[in-house]
Amino acid sequence: GLPGKQPEREVDSLCPYCGVGCQLTFQVSDNRILAVKGRDGPANHNRLCVKGRYGFDYVHSKERLTKPLIRRTDAPKERSLEVDPANPLTHFREASWEDALEVAAAGLARIRETTGPDALAGFGSAKGSNEEAYLFQKLVRTGFGTNNIDHCTRLCHASSVAALIEGIGSGAVTAPFYECENSDVIIVIGATPTVNHPVAATFIKNAVKRGATLIVIDPRGQGLTRHAHLHLQFRGGTDVALLNAMIHTIIAEGLSDPDYIARFTQDFDALKARVADYSPEKMAPLCGIPAEVLRRAARLYASAKAAMIFWGMGISQHTHGTDNARCLIALALLTGNIGKPGAGLHPLRGQNNVQGASDAGLIPMFLPDYRSVDDNAVRALFEAAWGRPIDPQKGLTVVEIMDAAHRGAIRGMYIMGENPAMSDPDQTHVRQALATLDHLVVQEIFLTETAAFADVILPATSFLEKDGSFTNTNRQVQIGRQAIEPPGEARQDWWIIQELARRLGLDWAYAHPRDAFEEMRQLMPSIRGISWQRLEREGSVTYPCEAADDPGQEVIFGDGFPTASGRARFVPTDIRPPDELPDGDYPFILTTGRILEHWHTGAMTRRATVLDAIEPEPFCHLSPDDMGKAGILPGETIRVRTRRGAIELKARLDRDVSSGTLFIPFCYAEAAANFLTNPALDPDGKIPELKFCAARLERTNEA
Ligand code: SF4
Repeated sequence: GLPGKQPEREVDSLCPYCGVGCQLTFQVSDNRILAVKGRDGPANHNRLCVKGRYGFDYVHSKERLTKPLIRRTDAPKERSLEVDPANPLTHFREASWEDALEVAAAGLARIRETTGPDALAGFGSAKGSNEEAYLFQKLVRTGFGTNNIDHCTRLCHASSVAALIEGIGSGAVTAPFYECENSDVIIVIGATPTVNHPVAATFIKNAVKRGATLIVIDPRGQGLTRHAHLHLQFRGGTDVALLNAMIHTIIAEGLSDPDYIARFTQDFDALKARVADYSPEKMAPLCGIPAEVLRRAARLYASAKAAMIFWGMGISQHTHGTDNARCLIALALLTGNIGKPGAGLHPLRGQNNVQGASDAGLIPMFLPDYRSVDDNAVRALFEAAWGRPIDPQKGLTVVEIMDAAHRGAIRGMYIMGENPAMSDPDQTHVRQALATLDHLVVQEIFLTETAAFADVILPATSFLEKDGSFTNTNRQVQIGRQAIEPPGEARQDWWIIQELARRLGLDWAYAHPRDAFEEMRQLMPSIRGISWQRLEREGSVTYPCEAADDPGQEVIFGDGFPTASGRARFVPTDIRPPDELPDGDYPFILTTGRILEHWHTGAMTRRATVLDAIEPEPFCHLSPDDMGKAGILPGETIRVRTRRGAIELKARLDRDVSSGTLFIPFCYAEAAANFLTNPALDPDGKIPELKFCAARLERTNEA
């Protein structure tokens, strides 16, 4: 905070960063945030991490967009990112809202009428509220006439959700993260909570202090390793080998729970037959973990009275991401570790509202509450409510939409608060695709790398400038409140979506986000019992919550599963190697991710003074061993190259990285890691393999 300055008022709201969903209070004076205090929310008990406490002054940045912008007719799209640093808006002219909305809608309508609805697509945002996500997907489905609607969940937990829906009939967590207080064993696999979910990590550390056993399974070392009883630092990409060896051990040693399996599951015999071949002895050389350690991990997990599994992008961002998650689900089902205190499956959600945006239908295959668009009865229900036909075809996903744009099949897009020109794999391809579009409308708070390619830019509001509901990783629907006024002519996102909808022929008349929320809960049984008034009163309500007097359920599936048979399914898996393996030309494994201080593509945190001062420039993290062998010194500039591109950045020595592996954060536009990454997709989740591709190191004086 500013020393000596007293706040005029305090506004109770939420942290806009990660899926933990910490509750906090903004202290405000003169329409500026002075400081932030943690509140006693269910997910944080007054705790905040460095992003929650210090990551706010991006809202006051001079770079905020304050006027609608229209691309100049003489501004070539392929040169969108070549700008005069003194005038970053070189390629645009300021416009009135009326003109900008007219041009934005007319371009989309023209493509809908000439090429057809499937030549259009929309990317909504996991940073927006539930109401914004709901309105955005409703606009794309009923105004554009297509299911080509997706958001960054596709780059995050799409594979986990595919496996969970297939296996247990629901894509959300089965227990909140703080349920680990009641666990006696905790597995954290492919997740770095101390960096990406720091406040959730404190609950895991507290559980260990209280006596729980922690098993960390990760190719990289991390903050939780110090607290772990066992760290399986396995070879990246060999998850299925490792997990099937654990499943094999549990079955072979009679450690499974036959009563649970008989009562609540199906297809156990198929799993048993498949893993017969996956003995720890056989898998040990593949995954680089001794057979005895694989057995020890399996025995610890299976012998626990109650155990939880946490996972993150290390599991999901693979071409075998769905298989990885299938194995974790099988571990829990085998041992009855679902639906009781201290037990559960918890894919840690990344964005503050990735759970809610997915629930609200911001995905190409599901209408709100995960009801399939290709189910006639489901469509009839929504068509009756919305008064418009819905396309029976599932839409394309994020990477598929960019591919379709690249080959000219998608001609127009509406992007709200997403930054594919940083977040998506193979940036050369993505940026060409964006430049190829006939018409791109971007709704943003900054001139992001994606907005630079727009035909029309609509200046939007930040989290702190609006009211809305947000659903955290625990399925807790919480309320975020407006703390300050938006700058200049920036407008509320729900208002912008509605203005476009009206110009595309829809007769919407929402007056506040609460109207959209009210409509959602009529259509979504999972949140039917949560009224806006209840949210305002209670601040946080967990779904499923079907009636006004329903307290909401934290631990679910104690008495069966929401599948056709009421049982959960075992889905056996086999080893499929990563799409691109290291070889003589590209001998390293490149993996990408986040760091504590920066959020995703950096649009917010690179403009947050304290956070950017701590981590101001990009680094490639190398093991001491590789640094020594290559004769590279810490701080030296190196070039990292893959088959898709090359970037130059400094080398950082990192003892947590295994030899043969490079780690690069993807938040730095000046050395964007996604120029390097592989766009190969998981066949079920359609998630790209951001955690694994082949790379080589070059000296910068080499050509
Ligand atoms: Fe915000 Fe997540 Fe940190 Fe909590 S843990 S303060 S929600 S970034």
